[in-house]
Amino acid sequence: MDYQAPQDLLRQKVILVTGAGAGIGRVAATTFARYGATVILLGRTTAKLEAVYDEIVAAGGPQPGIAPMDLAGASNDDMRQFAEVLANTYGRLDGLLHNAAQLGERIPVEHYDVSKWMTVMQVNFNAVFMLTRQLLPLLRQSAAASLVFTSSSVGANPKAYWGPYAVSKYAMEGLAKLLAEELENTSTVRVNILNPGATRTPMRATAYPNENPATVKPAASLMPLYLYLMGDASIGVNGQTLRCQLP
Ligand code: NAP
Repeated sequence: MDYQAPQDLLRQKVILVTGAGAGIGRVAATTFARYGATVILLGRTTAKLEAVYDEIVAAGGPQPGIAPMDLAGASNDDMRQFAEVLANTYGRLDGLLHNAAQLGERIPVEHYDVSKWMTVMQVNFNAVFMLTRQLLPLLRQSAAASLVFTSSSVGANPKAYWGPYAVSKYAMEGLAKLLAEELENTSTVRVNILNPGATRTPMRATAYPNENPATVKPAASLMPLYLYLMGDASIGVNGQTLRCQLP
């Protein structure tokens, strides 16, 4: 996408990014801040979130928030309390990028360890549902909120050996489409699915250990689409699946 975002695109917006400590989430968080957003950085490794916080502040961006949370173990109550803190601190949420995910193992279903399967489903799907559920009242407080679910090609078309990663993304796409329909006429919240495609990150390196990372596009090249979805230019775009084109 060759969308050119104005420099103040996200000024006054409060945006939560999950998995903000590394990979695409890190680049999205720093980019949103560069375009004026107050970004809340959610992730499981506090030191990584602090490094992103420092980068945003050093670049002169609005002071971010840090939300250490391991989505594998976070309960609905933890998420409710988190939503309360956000409500008290910011009063609303203008954007939510569901980005955190775990790859899990790439082995046949019949050999998959059940508890490892459950963990991937918890992080990639159940936590996404619970967080969305708890944050919807805050998203409704925004004049125009954008809810973005990060999927994958194997989310749209599950493929052999992709296990709970594919199944969780497939379920997440279902949740996103259902929510888009539910919210269409009852709120100003828009809901879309974003498939970043092959991108140079730690997850990609784990999934394709023999690939030369230099041949894969960097996360920065995705940002016009991420900005488009978070900014007001995409108001009215709802229930869509947007895929980043390969360079
Ligand atoms: P990544 O490099 O593995 O980064 C994932 C981020 O999620 C990390 O910051 C990680 O935290 C965080 N995270 C993982 N488990 C968590 C948990 N239990 N609780 C909280 N945070 C957790 O992944 P990525 O490649 O940037 O992927 C970002 C999104 O794009 C994912 O939804 C992925 O499925 C999707 N995607 C990626 C590609 C690709 O080629 N990269 C292609 C299609 C779709 P730590 O750093 O602390 O582990």
